[in-house]
Amino acid sequence: MNDNRVRELIIIGGGPAGYTAALYSARANLEPLIIEGFQWGGQLMITSDVENYPGFAEGIMGPQLMGEFRRQAERFGAEFIADDATRVDFSERPFRVWVGDDEYRAESVIVATGASARQLGLESERALHGRGVTYCAVCDAAFYRDKEVLVVGGGDSAMEEALFLTKFASKVTVIHRRDEFRASPIMFDRARANDKIEFLTPYVVEEALGAEDGKLTGVRVRHVDTGEAMEVPADGLFVAIGHDPTTKLFLDQLDHDEAGYLVTQPGSTATNVDGVFAAGDVVDHTYRQAVTAAGLGCMAALDAERWLAAREGHAYAALSAPRA
Ligand code: NAP
Repeated sequence: MNDNRVRELIIIGGGPAGYTAALYSARANLEPLIIEGFQWGGQLMITSDVENYPGFAEGIMGPQLMGEFRRQAERFGAEFIADDATRVDFSERPFRVWVGDDEYRAESVIVATGASARQLGLESERALHGRGVTYCAVCDAAFYRDKEVLVVGGGDSAMEEALFLTKFASKVTVIHRRDEFRASPIMFDRARANDKIEFLTPYVVEEALGAEDGKLTGVRVRHVDTGEAMEVPADGLFVAIGHDPTTKLFLDQLDHDEAGYLVTQPGSTATNVDGVFAAGDVVDHTYRQAVTAAGLGCMAALDAERWLAAREGHAYAALSAPRA
């Protein structure tokens, strides 16, 4: 199908950044089309209680929060396609975005495809996800007060998560597959100096172990050199082995860093392609919070609105300019 209409704005990605951009741009009468992904909602869809999103004093379930984000944008006329963008062409305007064989065109695009936490790739890890296996200490550490937890990884993320967890857990064991650590010396030294943190190296996690009630009870690890296996009991397993931005579609057209995160101009969401903006975890490997992604999504919508208005000749009144 070819959609002959040239839209003002297409948003690619349906997480906190994409839906916030959708809300702001819909309320600015840009009638955005959101290609939200087959697995719309982003990383919060695989989270249970979200207790750090402002405005929900009692906490809210991740999928419910994303449903509310989506409904709020829909209320102002945002249009959604619950499928994945499969190809983009940003070489000329209108920009083109494909979903399979269907082509959509727009004067401006916001990329908000997010990132995902790397997984160990174990069947048992998937089965116990949200039942003791987690990927975010900032989100979930408070559930492990006075409990024993494990952190997998040897980079800065693992050190940061381990240090954060010591505020709650009684003991934190960092499991890493090598004796050398990729983490910066200052982070590693801080972790080593903390009495609650122990290190187990060089070990790989072979299996996450669960009780009959479906909760994590520990892991089975194997020594990398000797092959000896043992079980380590724990209430929580924090996998902190890095994140991957969802940027494969854009790498040949948009500037990115070595890890694949899109690069935007300082203090803006503008990419190297005039009229293409990027927001959320797809540009942010530092904060990675739903609330920061939402903030960036808001910025991208305002940037796109200003950019569209400037092209129509009323740059200084962009935010209040009447639209056709
Ligand atoms: P990272 O530096 O890529 O480290 C990932 C760690 O996980 C490595 O130790 C790696 O082991 C291990 N790992 C990867 N895949 C694994 C697997 N399948 N099984 C077991 N272990 C595995 O990622 P990161 O720690 O998320 O850091 C990413 C970037 O963000 C870095 O530039 C970092 O400095 C930065 N960052 C900075 C801060 C801070 O300054 N506060 C905090 C977080 C992140 P190997 O070492 O053996 O490859």
